[in-house]
Amino acid sequence: METILVLTHTALSNETGADTGAALTRASLEAMTAGKELAAQLSASLTIGIVAPDSVAASAAASSLASAGARLLAVSGEPFAQPRYASDAAALEALARTANASIILAPASARFARVAAGVAHRLGGFIDTHITGLQIGTAPGAESIEATRWFYRQRVEAVLTRDVRPWFLLLDAGTHAAFAGESASAQVEQVAAQIPALRTTVSGLRSPAQGAQTIRPDAKLLFVAGAGWTKKQLDGQAHAPEAGDLILAFLRVSGASLGSSKSLVDQGGEGQPVLPFLTHLNQIGQTGSTPRHAKGLSTCCHGEEPHVVGWRFIAQRRAVSLDPNCGWTRGKADVVYVADAFQVMAKLNALLEAAKA
Ligand SMILES: Cc1cc2nc3c(=O)[nH]c(=O)nc-3n(C[C@H](O)[C@H](O)[C@H](O)COP(=O)(O)OP(=O)(O)OC[C@H]3O[C@@H](n4cnc5c(N)ncnc54)[C@H](O)[C@@H]3O)c2cc1C
Repeated sequence: METILVLTHTALSNETGADTGAALTRASLEAMTAGKELAAQLSASLTIGIVAPDSVAASAAASSLASAGARLLAVSGEPFAQPRYASDAAALEALARTANASIILAPASARFARVAAGVAHRLGGFIDTHITGLQIGTAPGAESIEATRWFYRQRVEAVLTRDVRPWFLLLDAGTHAAFAGESASAQVEQVAAQIPALRTTVSGLRSPAQGAQTIRPDAKLLFVAGAGWTKKQLDGQAHAPEAGDLILAFLRVSGASLGSSKSLVDQGGEGQPVLPFLTHLNQIGQTGSTPRHAKGLSTCCHGEEPHVVGWRFIAQRRAVSLDPNCGWTRGKADVVYVADAFQVMAKLNALLEAAKA
């Protein structure tokens, strides 16, 4: 019989982006959903471990999870107010030992991804990362848990099973619905973590100003800019500053996340007109990221295969390109507008502004 532990942590102020009022990160709530579903399928016991800066935050987090009907454990205190390897590893180890868990699910947040492999090693267990799905195997005899992940830039999908316990599984964000239960009073068991001598002092956090943050994993829409935005246009001139204004205005009014083609972000190093707010972190594709959003809108981009690879998990794809023979029109997008993106985006921004007013 498996014992499932879901590890969660509260959001730091700079992690929440817009203030949603949620005490736990969205990725933690997604891991909760995965754990609850798995426990139900296996008729296994479910425990939730919370890492929080103080007991008040731990109780608030616990009450938002009370309806899951699980055992609630918390490690809290000043050392856990900031991510740091030594204290976070001690917290997760204490939670896993107290829960006596055989299957441990955790969100692949920067905080947990950094320590989970070390904790798995301390417990004599095993870890798999970038898990996108969990199901029960159909092989006759034993009930085996199957975990799914992608390899080779999301081209090959593998199904993993393991006999080693505890088995840590780090879940990619955006693969499960966030748990949303009724808030209720909850019994939380405080767990004491054995913290070693701390050599790292967290002196503060530095993060980009709110308006400069263009990568928004929770956004419904991914907006992607291609190299066409900085190419010479019909009048023989490039219009990079105007392109930048149109794109930033759209992000502001739509709340979309910003992606880019490799060609566009590479241009900075090649002395061509650039959009200063783009970096390689925005790059989508074979050598970039593969974000998950409900919708995607590509503009001034050709739809080349290495770029389109990054669109694998975008549910509905649309593109605006001047070229009627671009890659998007050859079966890679659901809808293609053969049009000038400068005109389309200016009109779209005006409509969105009017709708907001
Ligand atoms: C091994 C390898 C790995 C790669 N990995 C990646 C990767 O991870 N990500 C990635 O992006 N690329 C990657 N590439 C490069 C990729 O193949 C493409 O070259 C690149 O994505 C093209 O970028 P683009 O479409 O923005 O630019 P372009 O190919 O220059 O296309 C610009 C488009 O903009 C259109 N356009 C111009 N003006 C307008 C306008 N006013 N309105 C509307 N449309 C307009 C043009 O018609 C054209 O279709 C990789 C390549 C290789 C070989």
